[in-house]
Amino acid sequence: HYDAKIVPIKFDEESERYIIVLHDTTKEKQLDKLRREFISNVSHELRTPLTSIHGYAEALLDDDLSNKELVRKFLAVIESESARMTRLINDLLDLEKLESGDAKFIFGPVEMCHVMDRVYNILEPLAEDYGVELQIECDEPKTVYGDLDRLVQLALNLVDNAVKYTSIKEAGEKKVVARCYEKENMIIFEVKDTGPGIPEDAQRRLFERFYRVDKARSRKVGGTGLGLSIVKMIAEKHNAKVTFESKVGEGTTFRVIFNKYTEDLKEQSEKSNEA
Ligand code: ADP
Repeated sequence: HYDAKIVPIKFDEESERYIIVLHDTTKEKQLDKLRREFISNVSHELRTPLTSIHGYAEALLDDDLSNKELVRKFLAVIESESARMTRLINDLLDLEKLESGDAKFIFGPVEMCHVMDRVYNILEPLAEDYGVELQIECDEPKTVYGDLDRLVQLALNLVDNAVKYTSIKEAGEKKVVARCYEKENMIIFEVKDTGPGIPEDAQRRLFERFYRVDKARSRKVGGTGLGLSIVKMIAEKHNAKVTFESKVGEGTTFRVIFNKYTEDLKEQSEKSNEA
């Protein structure tokens, strides 16, 4: 995209010349498009739960409220939809902080087995409710250099997705295994599930904000469509890479590949923190 301006230049009475000034606006146009898409996505994401909150509240107001069970059911929807809006706004603010660099990271040696224990304690009750077997494997210490709370957040997002999407599978084994192992001086955090899998054509868009393979499915599990974007941002801050492989009907495996913690790595990171 170019903005063109024609500037006439008069040398003398007889001859007039023109200069064409071209201004490359490709980048501005792209940014503008992204900004508009983002606003439209956020508005849509917020409007969906609001519409259902509004609808159920209206139904309650019109009702004589004698059917206690129905009232409870409607209130439960209002409660869960407003919780989803809160999650959405928190995730958006968090993502913004991560992208702008405002998020403070406190780096230090982090024991991944400890991260997984915390995740297990938080998500085991949920997995049990959902009828999914959750297993954690970490036998020896596996240390990376990172921010403990952010690494717990990253692991929570991946294990939470695995449990939730596995739970909606119609039949078959429902199992999630999170483990940590070392390979060629790397520490690999892996979450493997026996869930529905991700179709090939959806795989390349997975880390986009608000992208869902199946909107209804994501809504059913209370997703915001931002979880994997946050995982990717946190991994980037740790110089880690996120990969995954998935087969429809068989399951999905996510891996986050970290550099192994060494004193060298600590020195390097401290230098870049100061910079
Ligand atoms: P959401 O809040 O919708 O879960 P995410 O960014 O965490 O958003 O994930 C994006 C989409 O990727 C999900 O909506 C879902 O379709 C798909 N997805 C993520 N993890 C899994 C998984 N373990 N199994 C199947 N699909 C998954």
